[in-house]
Amino acid sequence: MRWGMTIDLGRCTGCYGCVLACKQEHSTPTGIHFRRMMFEEVGQYPAARRLHAPVQCNHCAEPPCVPVCPTKATYQRQDGLVLVDADVCIGCGYCMTACPYEHRHFVEDKLEHFDSGLTPHEQAGGEAGHDWQAKRDTVVKCTFCEHRLARAEGTGLKPGVDREVTPACVITCPADAMTFGDLNDPGSKISRLIAERHGFGLLPEAGTHPSIYYLPDR
Ligand code: SF4
Ligand code: SF4
Ligand code: SF4
Repeated sequence: MRWGMTIDLGRCTGCYGCVLACKQEHSTPTGIHFRRMMFEEVGQYPAARRLHAPVQCNHCAEPPCVPVCPTKATYQRQDGLVLVDADVCIGCGYCMTACPYEHRHFVEDKLEHFDSGLTPHEQAGGEAGHDWQAKRDTVVKCTFCEHRLARAEGTGLKPGVDREVTPACVITCPADAMTFGDLNDPGSKISRLIAERHGFGLLPEAGTHPSIYYLPDR
């Protein structure tokens, strides 16, 4: 079992729905987005085009952020998720430097919110229930919505199939641009899509073997 995601560049419209869904699910502090939109201009006027792609932690199979962590706060699970234990993280930032995608974020000592104070949703740390006060001075990133995956245990529900146990960004996408599933199952929808559409990971030269595959625009 190795969880992964495909992002269909032919379907994604760059609407930011997934970025906002993630923000809402995790109620991240000001300035921290686990998921972002990347833009690039290609070609020359009048044939110039603006390309876009959502990006987040790739939950790499060979994650350079893991071996550099001096406290083992960053670790890799059997199912491929790369996570951070905030109780053990000392905020040294080695992992931020090691990540070639710049998908790790430092939680500042002073958590910034609107002057009116925290909403009840923010106080609860979003649906994910993050204790942002306890995470001050540590490093955070996309969790592949592990709290949603965990809900599947003992229920018969399947991540990638049932909405309740599938990452928030995936179920929110109005263009149905993403698929979540088991990369190790050759018969899974995600494995078939990657094979048929020639899915690719970002920065292959980094040797990280991402669990997020982009499907080229047809
Ligand atoms: Fe680590 Fe960066 Fe890979 Fe995420 S994308 S697993 S933070 S190296
Ligand atoms: Fe490990 Fe935290 Fe240092 Fe990152 S900032 S390397 S997770 S102790
Ligand atoms: Fe955010 Fe969850 Fe999507 Fe990661 S998997 S980008 S944490 S909504």
